[in-house]
Order: sequence, then structure tokens, then C-alpha cells
Amino acid sequence: MDKKERLEIPRQKMPEQDPKERIENMKEVPYGYTEEMAVTEAKRCIQCGKNAPCIKNCPVSIDIPSVMAFVAEGDFENAYKKIKENNLLPGICGRVCPQQEQCQSECTVGKLKKNKECAVGIGNIERFLADWARTNNKEIIVPAEKKNGWKVAVIGSGPAGLTVAGELARKGTEVHVFEALHTPGGVLVYGIPEFRLPQEIIDSEIANLKALGVKIHCNRIVGQSITMHEMLDEYDSIFIGSGAGLPIFMNIPGENSLGVYSANEYLTRINLMKAYKKQSQTPIYTPESLAVIGGGNVAMDSARTALRLGVSDVKLVYRRSEAEMPARAEEREHAKEEGVKFDLLTDIKEILKDEKGWVTGIKVVDMELGEPDEYGRRKPVEIKGSDRIIDVKSVIIAIGNRPNPLVKKSFPEIETNEKAGIKTDPETLETSIKGVFAGGDIVLGAATVIKAMEHGKRAAKYIDEYLHSL
Ligand code: FAD
Ligand code: SF4
Repeated sequence: MDKKERLEIPRQKMPEQDPKERIENMKEVPYGYTEEMAVTEAKRCIQCGKNAPCIKNCPVSIDIPSVMAFVAEGDFENAYKKIKENNLLPGICGRVCPQQEQCQSECTVGKLKKNKECAVGIGNIERFLADWARTNNKEIIVPAEKKNGWKVAVIGSGPAGLTVAGELARKGTEVHVFEALHTPGGVLVYGIPEFRLPQEIIDSEIANLKALGVKIHCNRIVGQSITMHEMLDEYDSIFIGSGAGLPIFMNIPGENSLGVYSANEYLTRINLMKAYKKQSQTPIYTPESLAVIGGGNVAMDSARTALRLGVSDVKLVYRRSEAEMPARAEEREHAKEEGVKFDLLTDIKEILKDEKGWVTGIKVVDMELGEPDEYGRRKPVEIKGSDRIIDVKSVIIAIGNRPNPLVKKSFPEIETNEKAGIKTDPETLETSIKGVFAGGDIVLGAATVIKAMEHGKRAAKYIDEYLHSL
């Protein structure tokens, strides 16, 4: 097939649940590609070669053109092997990575068509391959032939911790992961809802790591159940991947009212503690109206989850315009289709409450966009005299998260920055303490799954070098 023919193939859209049906259940929204669709989509790739822009824009440098070539020939097994060379968790990344801003952002097909939406559906194909390998028992698990004698402790079982653990286990290192919660997975389990990332996908990726020899110890809070100093005595090296799970609040009047949740608490109750199930003991407040404050993935997840719990009027209050929203484009579209109402260029000033302390509404003000800030995003500026009240009975605050200070408290000698993130060497990810490495959100602040994984992969390389220097 020549380039012209490839460029004529239309982008294959994943079939998905109807919006009216899906807000009644927690099942995953897209059904995924069929084999035929995956092959057709892969044929759209025009094979840009070793310097392909998609490879350059993939944080873990997957050889995407080779993957596409295998899929186009229907050779899913080799395509999957190729992905796994660089990415230990493709079933997760295929679902939650912001592909539009990464591998797909500069795809030549999108550029030639002058429409980013026409880029090759790399994420959809990654998702397809991971599902194909899982359902056809083609998982690639190659445990190390022999142990190398070293022992490493990993704090936190989010994507950073799981990646470092898998990479080191592949080299024959004994790896013990310590997780504070009763289920491993970090934000993948307690934050991202099942309709975006089903639990069975995470379970299967974790089972693969266990098959590599990784030991996961849940309900173990480092800093309480075991101290960092005890760990340093027992292990040759430590990786800290404790994430950024501490919610940021707005410090506005009424924030302590009844019916106000941080997005973390709200989503943890529902995803981890299964509050959406009838038999669950976890209480959750589901009034008829609710406002979510924020414009990222966390805000979108909270709003879409509230709809599924039966809240009929869900508003998303965001102080910039949709163009500045950090949420994945697909999540924004899904949220709108499902009925979330976007209240854009609107900032919250106060949460109003009744005499018993329950939320009755929010006082907001209209905004306009001013000059760009230091990150290039246009600053929202308040329009004087535009105050108005929105009637809602609950408020979910989803404006960001910070690193949890627990590890630092247990280990005050480790250097941190002004936002409580752990300071590391930018290349090796070694902290101020020799042999102790850190990565993911605890270093980057609230970032992305693939960035956490890239840190995990890089830290594994330098931990291995450090172990060899002992
Ligand atoms: P985490 O995933 O936060 O994992 C850290 C783990 O460490 C947790 O399990 C925690 O319990 C454990 N821990 C903390 N302290 C201790 C301790 N003292 N002892 C033992 N264990 C400890 N990113 C995307 O790329 N795409 C998305 O669509 C997306 N959606 C998101 C939706 C939500 C609701 C949220 C909250 C985040 C989302 N993100 C998304 C961001 C992404 O999930 C994070 O950037 C990523 O999970 C960070 O990985 P991590 O391994 O650094 O930390
Ligand atoms: Fe294929 Fe797009 Fe990558 Fe080029 S940039 S190799 S067309 S996926």
C-alpha cells in the first residue's frame, strides 16, 4: 500500500457505550478496537522511520513505527513484544496517557491532514494490543534467570513504584514494595474511576509484576509501620514513589461546610471503598446538584462519577476557558456527552451553607483571560461586579494535589523543595541521601502516569548502577 492510499484511510473511532446507558453503570466507556479496526488504523501510519516524531514525543521512547508495521500485518504478538521492550504497563497507558499531547501530537499524518484529530490512533492500538495479549494468554513474563543478591525497597505502588520494581526484578534484584493502602496501584486504583480504567486491567498488570518476583506488602505505611532508618539497615537501596496524594484546598469561606469533599476523598470513597455498590458500608452524599471546582482529569473524573451515582445536575466550574483545560480531550468530550455542564471563566469565592452547616450554593464571579503566566497559560482576571450565586448542595474541590509529607517526617534529613517534593539529581534521580532514589509525583508534583513510569524506568537503571558500585 503506498503513502497516498494510507493517507486516504479514515481514522478508526473506538466504539463506545451510549452516553445515556453509561451514566447508569461503572463499566468502561470505550469497547476498544476489533482486530480488523486495529489493522486498518495501523495501516494509516506512513512509517516515518527512526527519527519519527511519535518516538521523540513518547516519554518512554516506544518504537511506534515498528509497532504499527507489525499490527498492519496482523502480527499482534510481535507488536506487543515491541511495546513491552519500553513500557511495562501498556494496558494502563493505552487508556490514560494524554496521547494527544505526546506521541500523537506531532504525528506526520495529523500534520499532513492539518488536523491533530487525524493523527494515527497510537493510544487506541496500544490499548488493543494489551487487551489482545491478556485475553489470548500472550503475556510476556521473563523472570531473571538467577538472583543477583541485592535487595531493594520501594515505597508506594503507583506507576512509578511498580515500574521501578518490575525493571529491577527483571535484572534479578529482590524487590519489596511497601504500600500504605490495602490495594496496590496508587492513583490508578483509588483515583481513576473504573469507567476509564477497569480494576481487572490493573490486577492483570500487577499479577505480571508478581510473576516477575516482585513482592508487594500492603497496609504498610512507611514512617509509621516501618521507618526509613529501619529500611536503610535492611535494604541495599530504596526508591521513594509515594506520589502527591495530599489535596490542595482553596482557603475560601465555607470550605468546611457539610457536603464539601476534596476530589481525593470523593474518588477514594467510590473507587477504592466501592461506595457505588449497594452492599458497600462506605457512605457517600448524593444530592440532586453538585459543583466540581477545577479543569483537570481529576475534576472530570469527579464530575462523571457523580453523574453515575445519580446526581442529576453536575456543574464543572473552571476559571479559564476550555482551551486551557489540562484534562485529556477525550475526557472532556465524554463529560459533555454525559451531561456535565461546563461553567467556564468562572471562579469560586465562597461556599454558602444553611444554619445546620450544609452546602446551599456557591458564590462565583466571572473571569476573562489576561496575559500569559510563566507557563504560557493566559491568566484569569476577575470581572468586577459580576458576582452571582449557583445553587448546589455539594462541592468537590479538584484544584490539585501536593506530596504527602509523611516520608519527610520520618526522614527529616532528606532534602525537599518548597512544595514538599523530594529533591533529586535531575538525571539519576538519586536524593540527597546516597542509595536513596525518588521519582513520580513525589518529585514532579501532580503529573502523569507515563512521566511517573519514565522516572521509574530511569531510577531502575541508576539503582542498578549504584548496586554494582557497592
Ligand atoms: P501514585 O500513583 O500517587 O502512587 C503513590 C503510592 O504511594 C500510593 O499508592 C500511596 O498510597 C503510596 N504511599 C504514599 N505514602 C506512603 C507511605 N508513607 N508508605 C507507603 N506507601 C505510601 N495521569 C494520566 O497520565 N492520565 C490520566 O488520565 C490521569 N488521571 C488522573 C485522575 C485522578 C483522579 C488523579 C488523582 C490523577 C490522575 N492522573 C492521570 C495523574 C497520575 O495518576 C499520577 O501522576 C500518577 O499516578 C503518579 O504516580 P506515582 O507512582 O508517582 O504516585
Ligand atoms: Fe506513523 Fe505518525 Fe509515528 Fe509517522 S509520526 S511513524 S505516521 S505514528
